[in-house]
Amino acid sequence: MESIELAAYAKINLGLDVVRRLENGYHEVKMVMQTIGLHDTLRLEKTKEGIALFVDSSEAPADENNLAYKAAHLLKEHCGVAEGISIHLQKRIPVAAGMAGGSTDAAAVLKGMNRLFSLGLSEEELCGIGVRLGADVPYCIMGGTALAEGIGEKLTVLPDAPDSVVLVAKPPVSVSTKYVYETLRLSEIEKHPDIDGMVRAVREGSLAGIVSRMENVLESVTEKEHSVITGIKHFMEENGAKKALMSGSGPTVFGIYEDRADAEKAAEKLLVRKPCVQAAVTAFQRKE
Ligand code: ATP
Repeated sequence: MESIELAAYAKINLGLDVVRRLENGYHEVKMVMQTIGLHDTLRLEKTKEGIALFVDSSEAPADENNLAYKAAHLLKEHCGVAEGISIHLQKRIPVAAGMAGGSTDAAAVLKGMNRLFSLGLSEEELCGIGVRLGADVPYCIMGGTALAEGIGEKLTVLPDAPDSVVLVAKPPVSVSTKYVYETLRLSEIEKHPDIDGMVRAVREGSLAGIVSRMENVLESVTEKEHSVITGIKHFMEENGAKKALMSGSGPTVFGIYEDRADAEKAAEKLLVRKPCVQAAVTAFQRKE
């Protein structure tokens, strides 16, 4: 095999709780993660030596700061791969959106190189390497529906959540994940999301049970700074969404729809009202 093409799927957080602040400044979280069909595409090709990266978007770095590049470098070092690799990255996942765009590209490079160079690494071994690039990378390697604890790297595989249509919308504001976590006042959170209940609902295959527990404690910080997020959530819920929530530290909002036509209609209307929003209709993506 000389080349391989992979889809790197975005994630949303169906539920996100912050349990406590750790001494090292990180936060212990408890989240239900879900991959969605929206994806970047990566083509990996064997070359004689080195790492070459081509990115079709000016929003993501096209050098050694790109997580796809870092993943290739790390795996080459770890496994002593002498041959080179060229990576063509087609970005579709909005950048710095709260959908783990960089982490999922890194995960795809690790999985792709494992196959391309017949490295024989297990999923667990790939996750062990991936966590050095970011806490979300192990989840992106696994995909599907999962409970993430610790700093996001302790994963429990869950059955695939029931099929659902998702409208994602990213307003044109930038959010620093670090700032959001640092600004969060844990002592002021009166009611934490019922993540255990959501896990039960996933196991029971109850979309209603999942939707009724969709909450994200980080909204309290990001929405205060960017009222456009609140506006999009209300818009979606007034336009057919069973529930709308911010993903990760934001600013992306996603709405859960029963019907694809309703989601498409809402997306069209949203783009007329807010032309700067990046919107896409997609669906839950099952574990491959
Ligand atoms: P998370 O949900 O994990 O917090 P995010 O979706 O908010 O991540 P990313 O899209 O991963 O954020 O981008 C965060 C930063 O990472 C960007 O500012 C960008 O410069 C950098 N970056 C590095 N590699 C990539 C990549 N492959 N795709 C997008 N951004 C990348």
